Amino acid sequence: MHEFDLNNIRSNFSILEEKIYNKPLVYFDNAATTQKPHIVINTLDKFYTVKNSNIHRGIYYLSQQATDAYEKAREIIKNFMNAKHEHEIIFTRGTTESINLVASTFSKAFLNEGDNIIISAMEHHSNLVPWQMACNEKKAKLKVLPFDENGEIDLELLSKLIDFNTKLIAITHVSNTLGTVNPVKKIIEIAHKYNIPVLIDGAQAIAHTKVDVTELDCDFYCFSGHKLYGPTGIGVLYGKEEWLNKLPPYQYGGEMIDRVTFEHTTFNVLPFKFEAGTAHISGALGLASAVNFVQSIGFENIEKHETELLNYATKKSQEIEGMRIYGNAQHKASLITFTIEGLHHFDIGTLLDKFGIAVRTGHFCTQPIMDIFQVSGMVRASFAMYNTKEEIDFFFESLNKVIKMLR
Ligand code: PMP
Repeated sequence: MHEFDLNNIRSNFSILEEKIYNKPLVYFDNAATTQKPHIVINTLDKFYTVKNSNIHRGIYYLSQQATDAYEKAREIIKNFMNAKHEHEIIFTRGTTESINLVASTFSKAFLNEGDNIIISAMEHHSNLVPWQMACNEKKAKLKVLPFDENGEIDLELLSKLIDFNTKLIAITHVSNTLGTVNPVKKIIEIAHKYNIPVLIDGAQAIAHTKVDVTELDCDFYCFSGHKLYGPTGIGVLYGKEEWLNKLPPYQYGGEMIDRVTFEHTTFNVLPFKFEAGTAHISGALGLASAVNFVQSIGFENIEKHETELLNYATKKSQEIEGMRIYGNAQHKASLITFTIEGLHHFDIGTLLDKFGIAVRTGHFCTQPIMDIFQVSGMVRASFAMYNTKEEIDFFFESLNKVIKMLR
C-alpha cells in the first residue's frame, strides 16, 4: 500500500482551489460527478493537440497512433476490471447508455410475454426505466426487490421473487441515494443457480472500491467515466463474451459492419459490433488516464480515507437536531443523504451554496425511493478521495447556520 498524501492528491485538482462567492469551494457532489485531475485534462489536451484523427480506418501515421491509443485504453480498462478479454469492454456514453444497450438488445432477443425481470427498489431511473420499457413492450413483468428501513435488501426475498420466467436481474452495486453497498457477489451466485444473467449498475461503485468482474462472475457491468475522475460522455459496458455474442447490435452504421450491400449487411466482431459510428476517442484516452490515476492512489487507500470521512460525517450528523439520515446499511459508501425536519431540501441546498458548498438536492433520479419515504426530496453530501475532515467540519458549521436562518 503506497502512502496516502491528501495534500498531494488535492494538488492534482486545480478546481478545488476555486472560490465560490469568495469562499473556498467545498465539493460534496461527487456522486453526481467527480472532479478531474490534471493528468486527465492533459490527456485530452494532448490528444487534440498532436494526435487528433479518426481511428481504425486510416492507414496514415496519426490515425494509427490514435487507434493504438484508443485500443490501449481498452486494454487498461480490461485490466482495471479484470475482464478476461479486451473485446468484452465496450465503450459507451456512460452507465445510462450501457444499460439501455443491454435492456434493448437483450429484450429483443430473449424477453417474451409472461417473462419477468427483477430489479431492486433502490435503482437509479437509468436502471429502472429501460427495463420497464422493455417489459411493457414485450408484455413481461418488472418485479421489484424491496429494501428494509436501513436500506438493505433481503436475499431470501430475492430467491422468492425468482421463478421459471425470470430472464435477468439488474441491480445497483452501490445506491446513489442510500449509499448501500449491495451483496452483488451473493446475488450473482443465487441467480446463476437458476441460469439467470445479472447486470450490475456500477456507476456509484467504480470510483470507491476494486471491481473484479471475473471474481464477481457478473454477466454485465456498467459504469460512467465521469464518476471515476474521467471525462463526461464516455463509459463502459463490460459483458461476458458469450452474452455479447448472443445479443444483436444496438445501433447500426459505420464501424459495426463487416460487409454491406443494398440487400444485406453482416456485422463486425466484438467489441466493434457495439461501437457504431466514430467513438469518443479522446474520452476513452481520458478515462484510461483516470484509471491510471486512481490505481496510482490505490483502492485500499481510497476506501480507508472515504470510510473515515463517512464515519466522521455520520457521527457529526447525530448532533444536528431533526436530521434524518436515509440509508444506514452496514456496508455503506461514503455519502450521507438526509432531511431536516420542517425544512425544505431545496432551501438547505440553496443556502449551503452561499457558503461555497456544493451538495445535491431533490430526488437524485430515484423517485420511487422518495415515494417509499414519503418525501419530496432529500439533501445528499457525497465524498471523494480528495475531501477532508475540515471540509466536513465546515459543512456542519454552515448547516447549523442554515438551519438557524430557516427556522
Ligand atoms: N446509476 C447510478 C446508481 C447512478 O448514480 C447514475 C448517475 N447518477 C447513473 C446510473 C447514471 O449515470 P450516467 O448519468 O453517467 O449515465
